[in-house]
Amino acid sequence: MSSTFKQLKVAVVGGGLGGLSAAVALRRAGHLVDIYERRDFNVEVGASISCAANGTQWLREWEVDIPDMKPIILMNLVMREWETGKVLNDYKLEKYEEEWGNVYNMFHRQDMHATLLKTATATEGKGTPCKVLIDHICESVDPEAGTVTFKNGVTITADLIVGADGIRSAVRGQIGIIPDMKSSPQTCYRCNVLTEDVKKLGLVDYSYAPAIQYWGGVPGKNGRSKYYKIVMSPCSGGEVVSFYCFMPTELTSHHEEGFTFKEVPVADILQGRYDALDPDCVDLLKNSIERMPWRLYVHQPYDHWVNGKACILGDAAHPMMPHQSQGACQAIEDAAALGIIFSDKYDFTGDVKRGLELYETIRKPRATRVQSASVKATENLNERIGFTSMTAPDAELAAAEGKLTINEMNGYKMHFHIEEEVAKLSAA
Ligand SMILES: Cc1cc2nc3c(=O)[nH]c(=O)nc-3n(C[C@H](O)[C@H](O)[C@H](O)COP(=O)(O)OP(=O)(O)OC[C@H]3O[C@@H](n4cnc5c(N)ncnc54)[C@H](O)[C@@H]3O)c2cc1C
Repeated sequence: MSSTFKQLKVAVVGGGLGGLSAAVALRRAGHLVDIYERRDFNVEVGASISCAANGTQWLREWEVDIPDMKPIILMNLVMREWETGKVLNDYKLEKYEEEWGNVYNMFHRQDMHATLLKTATATEGKGTPCKVLIDHICESVDPEAGTVTFKNGVTITADLIVGADGIRSAVRGQIGIIPDMKSSPQTCYRCNVLTEDVKKLGLVDYSYAPAIQYWGGVPGKNGRSKYYKIVMSPCSGGEVVSFYCFMPTELTSHHEEGFTFKEVPVADILQGRYDALDPDCVDLLKNSIERMPWRLYVHQPYDHWVNGKACILGDAAHPMMPHQSQGACQAIEDAAALGIIFSDKYDFTGDVKRGLELYETIRKPRATRVQSASVKATENLNERIGFTSMTAPDAELAAAEGKLTINEMNGYKMHFHIEEEVAKLSAA
């Protein structure tokens, strides 16, 4: 334990999954955390979020009440034929927990958010409860002075500023990053089907099995593009079946980045080659609710993540295509790194700038690799973690080819990595 540990005043800008994870990790490490969010938390529904073992590990370490997040534990990855729904492949994950020490959870974004918010602010549990301040839209940051100014005129000072304000981050610009990004050739609609509707209407019941099911994602009959892909998974304790429906961008009419909040008619989804889709899947989509467009952009990796007393994290630092299902897990890993670096094990609380440089050294290469692999998986489904390495020999081959593998994601030991880097710094 470091004898120089100092409690920090931390400002987390953005109360999404990344910001709340950072708040929990830094609270557990003994700091005073305020979370500044631009709006209240009841505006959007979202859909399923994958939390593989590399994310679940940190939720457990922070003593988050995972059952409260109503998880569905993933047991299979099922590939189906676009036109018929016939099962082409069924990868079983029954040994996943035994192999990696943690399960692969599927959560509903809202459930995950609610539990993290409760954990951050609860009087129970280790550390001082975090404060949440809504209606605080970050406008500017002075990374050297450690100040944040909000649109409502409030300016605050902190020892550490965490920019967790998502894909359109304001903090990012304030630490000198100009994103280099372009529209993805593939875009997405997400929607939900209630399991009670599936049952009531007699729709296919495999929809709420503990599996992620895919249609398409590879070039298909009659010139169907690989950009047509469906990802379906149950979440919220099995009450909701969540769909991501991908298609070529030129078919869609929405032009905003990130998440827009206007529902679309089902006809917007059931167009182009969706007219030849498995009728059972079409029936589910026809009975969907909360249909939202999600336009996707490809961001080149940024050249830095930290400046003075400020850093960025999660989608603000490494926005990625959704095809590795690692957006939330990588944000959780960022938060975990901050919690460890600024814990009483090390002396970085006396030199926040040095601690943040270490944060970038630890996190940027790994998150950038996942970000790049998520672009590759857009073009080739076989680049997706899991499909690259279903067996041990597969994993060796995939790793030799530079593909991202389950072993690389779940075998990673962050505590050890940080210890190693700190030893190097001490020796220098
Ligand atoms: C509404 C919403 C729905 C989503 N739905 C899905 C989904 O269905 N599936 C999926 O895979 N991923 C979804 N995501 C993305 C996923 O949650 C993220 O990839 C991942 O969890 C990383 O989270 P993050 O905290 O870095 O970013 P985000 O989850 O985007 O959180 C950023 C937070 O910062 C706040 N914020 C933004 N700008 C400012 C500002 N200037 N000042 C203060 N606060 C600000 C936002 O309101 C938001 O709460 C969604 C994100 C959002 C915001």
